[in-house]
Order: sequence, then structure tokens, then C-alpha cells
Amino acid sequence: MALPFKSLEELMPAAYAKLVEFYTKLESHYRDMQDIEFTIESSKLWMLQTLTGKRTAKAALKIACDMIDEKLITQEEALLRIDPASLDQLLHPTLDPHSQKTLLAKGLPASPGGMSGQIVFTSEEAVDWKEKGLKVILVRVETSPEDIAGMVAAQGILTTRGGMTSHAAVVARGMGKCCVAGCGEVEVDYRTETMKAKGYVLKKGDLITLDGGTGEVFLGEVKTIDPRLDAEFERIMKMADQVRTLKVRANADTPKDAAKAREFGAEGIGLCRTEHMFFGADRIDVVREMILADAKTDREKSLSRLLPMQRSDFHELFRIMDGFPVTIRLLDPPLHEFLPHSEQEMKDFAKRIGWDFERVRNKVRALHEFNPMLGHRGCRLAITYPEIYQMQVHAIAQAACDMVQEGKSLTPEIMIPLVMVPQELETLRALTIKEVEHVQEIRKIKFDYLVGTMIELPRAALTADAIAEHADFFSFGTNDLTQTTLGLSRDDAGRFLGTYVSDGIFAKDPFVTIDKKGVGQLVKIGIDLGRRGDPKLKVGVCGEHGGDPESIEFFHSVGLDYVSCSPYRVPIARLAAARSKIMDTNQKVKN
Ligand code: PEP
Ligand code: MG
Repeated sequence: MALPFKSLEELMPAAYAKLVEFYTKLESHYRDMQDIEFTIESSKLWMLQTLTGKRTAKAALKIACDMIDEKLITQEEALLRIDPASLDQLLHPTLDPHSQKTLLAKGLPASPGGMSGQIVFTSEEAVDWKEKGLKVILVRVETSPEDIAGMVAAQGILTTRGGMTSHAAVVARGMGKCCVAGCGEVEVDYRTETMKAKGYVLKKGDLITLDGGTGEVFLGEVKTIDPRLDAEFERIMKMADQVRTLKVRANADTPKDAAKAREFGAEGIGLCRTEHMFFGADRIDVVREMILADAKTDREKSLSRLLPMQRSDFHELFRIMDGFPVTIRLLDPPLHEFLPHSEQEMKDFAKRIGWDFERVRNKVRALHEFNPMLGHRGCRLAITYPEIYQMQVHAIAQAACDMVQEGKSLTPEIMIPLVMVPQELETLRALTIKEVEHVQEIRKIKFDYLVGTMIELPRAALTADAIAEHADFFSFGTNDLTQTTLGLSRDDAGRFLGTYVSDGIFAKDPFVTIDKKGVGQLVKIGIDLGRRGDPKLKVGVCGEHGGDPESIEFFHSVGLDYVSCSPYRVPIARLAAARSKIMDTNQKVKN
């Protein structure tokens, strides 16, 4: 195509030739793409300055691959030049940088991606509107496990309360769905179905756009650019895999997440939060009946209805993971989280199962806790109601036998959460082994499995040697470990952590990047004590920090075996793990 103007080459061939000569020289001297400023006066070329050129993630991968091919840089140098966090741009839709935008509010960048949609305020509406072919953004003060279906249906999630490890943030990241959390500048009124920000009053059905990578919320619709993974991405990922020693697993609770995780190169599941399997419309009422049961026999009846559902869930995960380890964490959250909250929900539920409304309400009240994060949750549930874990272990063992029968390989790892003293783990390990052996005997099938624990409490880290006596592996739950070490509520700290970071009291949000001096120190102590009795004790991390590049560098340095993160962060973790190894080696060579 003929250009409507003449090129520099045609206009001033001599200056052009000089420019090519200089930029080629500069690029090979600095061994990197340059951002050059020059001027031409009276046909004479003057070079003004040269800087390392800024680049998008896509360009960074292309430049790195080209420079390796041109033998300008080594593979290791190439990997060090790509910012792992920038890969987010390639894995999620992003907002078109050239679009006009009106900023409405800014919250926490809880899960990346750019998405527009019509505002809805309830999970039910998100599902209904999606079924009608509409795109919605689910706006809530905070989300709870009951909102899962709405979160699945929505394009993105906006919450006004909660931090980077709040329910909305963790679940959205797992789904690869964009989320802005803890956006205190937005005021939500469920009654009038409106949200207010910067003087605007938006009603149900109005359009907004979220940028989950920056935490920004915009008025109206903004054009997005779809992600695309090209050959350079695959090539860089392969190089990273050859270098890194830290394994990368995924936090995945559904077959969809597990398949995504494999696609992104996860080497197993490091955390399957089994409570996330209980919220399907077909099973939540069964779970509720189990919780409301007054007698053990009634509870066991409900559990026996849940068993086949869990068995097929686990079977599916084992199948997708195709021999890679699958860490199944037994039930963790307090039971009241599963119960209906509003009066209407309680009435509907009572009617569905033919019970008295009063009875439901009284039970919900009786289970209420002032501080559920430190209450009757984690393994404490199974100390009081062992039949719950028994059912889950039975389902895992049955699914494992099914796999063996089909001639398929599997590596189940059963994980007990929130252990504070060795006696808890000793008791629940015995329960687990007894149940597995019981199933193995009935089925006349054997399979290998591990029983381990999460280290989520300071006491557990400080007494890890005693805990390790009953564990085949440790997985650091750094979300809870951060919460309990810093005394910061995961669900409430979002309101003030922003000020802590902007005022420089914290360099980074400790729920995003591990607090090396405090929480990190406990991780280090936990590993050292844990490996005292068994130097080969397998140790990983499955808190949100497992997908954060700076934290991954720390985990590599303290000798963890693996990190586990949401499926969409697996590529980031693979690259970050490789870079950590390279930097570590370079440092050792220097010393
Ligand atoms: C953790 O506490 O780090 C963890 C992974 O468990 P959860 O986030 O489910 O509490
Ligand atoms: Mg936890």
C-alpha cells in the first residue's frame, strides 16, 4: 500500500542509515529493546537518549524469544526479563487502554480481568439474568458461599467489604473471574436496589465495568480485548519448567477448575476446598439437614446421602489430574455458614424440607458465633462430629478404589485443616486410616495415600516437630496464618489496610505478599521443625501467597516443595519459580 507520505528512508537515506546503524549497535550493546530519542537537523542525525523500552506482556515474550534466537541473551536472562505478574494481561480480558472511561470508585484488585455488565444485587438475579442472555456484574456488600451460583453466572464481582483473602476474592480468583473487593467508596442499598459512588446513583440494570487488575470501577460499558496465548507463551513456560525446582499445583474444587489448572500446567491439586462442593442446588439442603440434625443417627442419614455425591466429585478430580497428586482438604468452615441467613430464606428452607420455621431459626441462632474464624471450624468440627470427616474419607477411598479398578493411577493426599495441637491430628489421622482401611477391605483394593495437615496457626508452626509425627505432609495455609499471626481479620481488614499500605506502615498488603519477618519466619520455623524428624517431609503452601511472585521467591528460598495457587495464576507461579531458582543460583555463584 502506498503511504500518503514519504518514509524517512526515502527522504533522508543517509540519516536513516545512520539511525539503523546506531539502534542496532545500542540494542546489541544493552542486549535489550531500546526506547530511543533522536532528532535530525539539516539532514544530520543526533541521538538524544536511549532507555530500556517499556513493553506489554505480549511484547516482552516476543522480545525475549527473538533475542534468544539472535543469541543476544541466554534463556535465563530472558526469563529474568519477564515480569511474572504481567502475564495476567495474557490470561484475562483487559480493558481497551484507548477507551474513554469515567472512574466511579477504586477498591482492591482482587482478581484480574476487565468486564462490563448490568448491575444486579442478588445471586438469584445474576443466575436469572444470565439465563436470559444478559451480562451482569454481581454487586454485594460481601459474598458468602451461598452466592457461588451468582458468582458463576456473573461477568464480574464487586464487593464493598472484605480484603484480598475474603470469600469473594478467593473464589473469584479460583474461577478466573474479575473481582474488585473491599470497595468502600461504593455504598450499596439492597432495599432500594441502588449503589452510590462519586455522586452517581446507579440502579439495578445500569451498566458498570470492573478492572480487577487495578481495582477500578467505571461507569457504563468499556471495550475489552480478549486474551490470546501464542507460541511464545508456551515456549517461555517450557523454559521456566526446565529451570525451576519448586513444583506448582493449583487450588481447584471443581472439574472445570481442575481442567483449567492442567491446561495451564499445574502439577496436581494442592488444595481442594471440599466445602465448595456442598453448595450445589441439589445438595445444600441435604447439608443443612445434616447440620440441623439433633441425633447422630439423623446426621448419619444425611451424610449417607452426601456420600455418593462426594464420591463422584473426587473421582472426577482424580480422573482429570491423571496421576498427579490431589490434596483434598476435609471440611473447614463453621457449620452455620451453610445455613440460610435471612428470615425469608429460613422460611423457604423450612417449607422445602417440611420442618417448622421456629426450629430452623432457633438452630441458626444456636450455631451463631461471635468470631467464626476462631470458632467451631476446621478439624474442630470433626473432633465433635467425627462422622462428617468419616463420610468424606469414605468417599475419597471409594473414588480411589474406582480409579484403581479402572486401571488408572492416582495420588490422594488427605488434608486436615486448622490443627493447633498434635492430639487433634493424631485422633483424626487414626480416624482417616481406619476408614480408608475399612473401604480397602470391603473393596479388596489397595492404593497409596498420604494424610497430612495444614499449618495455619502460630502454635502449629512453633510445635511443628510434634505435629509432624502424625503427618505425611504439611501445607501452609498462609491466609489463616497471616490472619492469626497479625491478628488481622481476613474479612474486615480490607477497610483499613489500604491506608496502612499508602502510609507506608506496611510495604505490601500482607494477605497478598507474605510478611517475611513475621508470618514468613513462622513458615521457616515450621519447615525446619517439621523436617527435623523427617528430612523428606513434603511441604507446600496453599494460601493465596502461593500465586504471588515475591512470596514465591521467599518460598523457594526456605525450601518448600511446591506452591499451590488458583488455576489462572499457575503460569505466573511457574515463571516466578524459575526466576527464583535462577536468582538463587546467580547469588550462590557470586558468593
Ligand atoms: C489458608 O488459610 O491459607 C487456606 C488455604 O485455607 P482457607 O483460605 O480455605 O482458609
Ligand atoms: Mg485456612
